Amino acid sequence: MAGDAKPKEDPLREIKASLDRQMRCQPYERFDKFYEGEEFADALFTELVPWGKDQTFTGLTHGTPKGAHTPHGWGVLEHHEGFMQACSVWLDGVADGPGMWASTMNGVEQCGYGTWVQGKRHGYFALVKEGGTYIEEYETGELKRRIKWRKDKLHTKCSRCGMLFVPLANTAEEKFCRYHISKPDYDGRYPCCGALHAVNPRGCATSMHVEPLPDPPKDAVDGLADATAALGLGAG
Ligand SMILES: [Zn+2]
Ligand SMILES: [Zn+2]
Repeated sequence: MAGDAKPKEDPLREIKASLDRQMRCQPYERFDKFYEGEEFADALFTELVPWGKDQTFTGLTHGTPKGAHTPHGWGVLEHHEGFMQACSVWLDGVADGPGMWASTMNGVEQCGYGTWVQGKRHGYFALVKEGGTYIEEYETGELKRRIKWRKDKLHTKCSRCGMLFVPLANTAEEKFCRYHISKPDYDGRYPCCGALHAVNPRGCATSMHVEPLPDPPKDAVDGLADATAALGLGAG
């Protein structure tokens, strides 16, 4: 159509679509062919290795002058005070690819999605907080602008760890809910792992996030009714 009254195109349409897709899936697939490449030939899976002050890393690591377990491949960095950064590519300890972060630090739940380049946020990120979604534009780690995008209808708050998450992306492949199995005793020590609350408040166990109110999908109920009917059950 050669009309002049074309609706104004959103210059960020593609960016928004790609960030929206990113929110709806896990930050990485650990068995992706990508990690079979030569670059990651010496990288091995390690769990909860110290990486930085009060931080642990779980994912692929290899030995470098920076440490015996330097992040290299997919993985998640977790801070004891309630911050996590899951990135699909770490190179010699530095985030360098698409990923996401989530935080409950200082009682504020927020999370974001985008791409790190040589450890710095670069290009467009989505920021989710206080029920809203924003688009942020970064240039090698420096925030250039932040604009309103949309109301957040995707995220929910985990009733166990308090992190924001997207139920669609909360699958058993990657478990980002961190918690202690038991409550701290009178010494402030967790019986589950022996850690002091002051040292590791976040937890020794991981699992999937917990949805506050699990609504059974209507389709499943209908499907069950259909199956019951097909089997001739419930017909008295
Ligand atoms: Zn959780
Ligand atoms: Zn524990």
